[in-house]
Amino acid sequence: MLETNTIGELRKTIKSEKSRGRTIGFVPTMGYFHEGHLTLMREAKKRTDAVVVSIFVNPTQFGPNEDLDKYPKDLDRDRGMAQATGVDVLFTPSVKEMYPDGYSTYVDLTGITEVLCGKSRPGHFKGVATVVAKLLNIVRPDAAFFGEKDWQQLAVIKRMVIDLNVDVEVVGVPTVREKDGLAMSSRNVYLSPEERSASLVISKSLKIAQNMVDNGERSVDRILEALQGLIGSEELVELDYLEICDPETLSPVSEIRAETLVAIAARLGKTRLIDNALIGPELENTGNLF
Ligand code: AMP
Repeated sequence: MLETNTIGELRKTIKSEKSRGRTIGFVPTMGYFHEGHLTLMREAKKRTDAVVVSIFVNPTQFGPNEDLDKYPKDLDRDRGMAQATGVDVLFTPSVKEMYPDGYSTYVDLTGITEVLCGKSRPGHFKGVATVVAKLLNIVRPDAAFFGEKDWQQLAVIKRMVIDLNVDVEVVGVPTVREKDGLAMSSRNVYLSPEERSASLVISKSLKIAQNMVDNGERSVDRILEALQGLIGSEELVELDYLEICDPETLSPVSEIRAETLVAIAARLGKTRLIDNALIGPELENTGNLF
């Protein structure tokens, strides 16, 4: 596995891979790997010849009171995990390499970035879209892999790739969960044992939403009411948002007629967790939920 922190060396390597007719898969991350990240890398390995993984804790996507400074890091551990997963190139740029002095260009999507996490984290998706656009321009991969865990991020990137005519296939990968249902996240290490156990109400709510649909419920209001009651009963969990919306546009819906997204964000102490699931009449027993 080659490791580089410069755009120049990365481009040289990718050019040489491409000249040998090899396709490039790309997995952008902020590091501190878990099974979710590794699943993206394996999917990339399956579909493309050479896999590039970036680790970059992107400052432009963090708000002033967020966890940029204490975001978990362990490059030695990540390097070993990437190598063992068969990653070909690990790209670990510095902030200066990505945003040199005089940096002035941002990618700002309208509409889709103003709902859900966009409401509680203003500017977050501007940072995400900017860094992903830059990374896609640097790597120029055939396919780029993103987790459905961050559903809105995936929807934003799909929209950006269409709007800016970026020549890449965007591949969404299903959420990887702990055995008890908690969606894997680098931020789970922040949870105290009490918060970790309370966090289960989030994935449980998603399951209950599908159960209600399986039992014939089609009213979004009634599903929201049930889920709000359940999450409200967990003292340590402070709901940031709970929304039921169209999976592509993220606009609210009032009835469950087709595949619909249930999206949840909640704070447990200082930790903010997000999760989501597709629910719908056709999804009964499809195993789409854990
Ligand atoms: P992060 O390092 O948290 O920015 O995540 C890097 C990529 O891994 C993003 O595309 C995430 O959506 C994806 N990812 C994070 N957690 C999971 C998970 N539990 N299952 C699947 N993908 C994930």
